[in-house]
Amino acid sequence: QKEARKQLNSIAGHRPVTPDGKMLELAANISSYKELEIALSSGAHGVGLFRTEFLYMDRNRFPREEEQFEVYRSVAERLEGEPLIIRTLDIGGDKQLDYFNMTEEDNPFLGYRAIRISLHRKDLFKTQLRAVLRASFYGQVKLMYPLISSVEEVRAANAVLAEAKRELEAEGIPFDKGLKVGIMIEVPAAVIIADLLAQEVDFFSIGTNDLVQFTLAVDRMNEEISHLYEPFHPAVLRMLKLTAEAAKRNGIKVGVCGELAGDLRALPIWLSLDVDELSMSSHSILQVKERLLSTSQKDSRVLLPQLLECRTSADIHEKLKQFADGVA
Ligand code: PEP
Ligand code: MG
Repeated sequence: QKEARKQLNSIAGHRPVTPDGKMLELAANISSYKELEIALSSGAHGVGLFRTEFLYMDRNRFPREEEQFEVYRSVAERLEGEPLIIRTLDIGGDKQLDYFNMTEEDNPFLGYRAIRISLHRKDLFKTQLRAVLRASFYGQVKLMYPLISSVEEVRAANAVLAEAKRELEAEGIPFDKGLKVGIMIEVPAAVIIADLLAQEVDFFSIGTNDLVQFTLAVDRMNEEISHLYEPFHPAVLRMLKLTAEAAKRNGIKVGVCGELAGDLRALPIWLSLDVDELSMSSHSILQVKERLLSTSQKDSRVLLPQLLECRTSADIHEKLKQFADGVA
């Protein structure tokens, strides 16, 4: 095992590219500055998902602009120009705040959460956006909205962003005027209108954790039905394809930041869909990079139509296993 670890570490310095030249940025998911060090030592190319909710969960009141700014700036600076995607507050569902009085809901995952809270509590949202904007002056920061399900939500969020920009400008506080704005694709509605959403934003990041849950109507927290939580379901595969194609057709970048991004079995899917970035837990990065170095994009592209023809998840698993056996 020690030997295997050593071999993995030896590829940390390699460029993440397939034998036939497809480059795939491998970034880290983090939720604190502390986790950043682990990410960097795992050879992460930037941060593809900074889950900011832990900044809110770690205390007994909402973090002030200055407190958020300090954290975002520290992470941006430590990345020395590598990308940092900051996701706006994604509480609700499984993540609750003691000090934020949220009424009990029958269906919290379908309830008052994520961008819905931000658009309802624009004061909180603008505080966070100001902090992100200010940090954008210190690195390659990008902004991402969670749980988007309509064009209206994107526009409403961007209106608050424009207001935050105007304020900072008037106060003479610097920020990146070209700040890129993207959305999580994690609700089936967003997939179905991905062509429309792609015209409103600079990038997509597919959140497979929620996308699988909502596509299959299977609560991701409920162990009773965990056998039904199947990321390799034909419906999920079609969702991924629709999203990537809409992004490509509109010339915007598409990444993946759910658990599936770090799953070795899924790698030929990302390559065949020509995804630009995978963001995952730090501990998966080296393994995925190692597999990437020996997986051809061309072969993956031959595999995709075969996967799309599969009628069952079992068939997809079988095809992916055969493919992986041929690579490893
Ligand atoms: C996702 O839904 O896939 C995701 C990355 O976000 P979270 O796990 O924080 O909901
Ligand atoms: Mg999610």
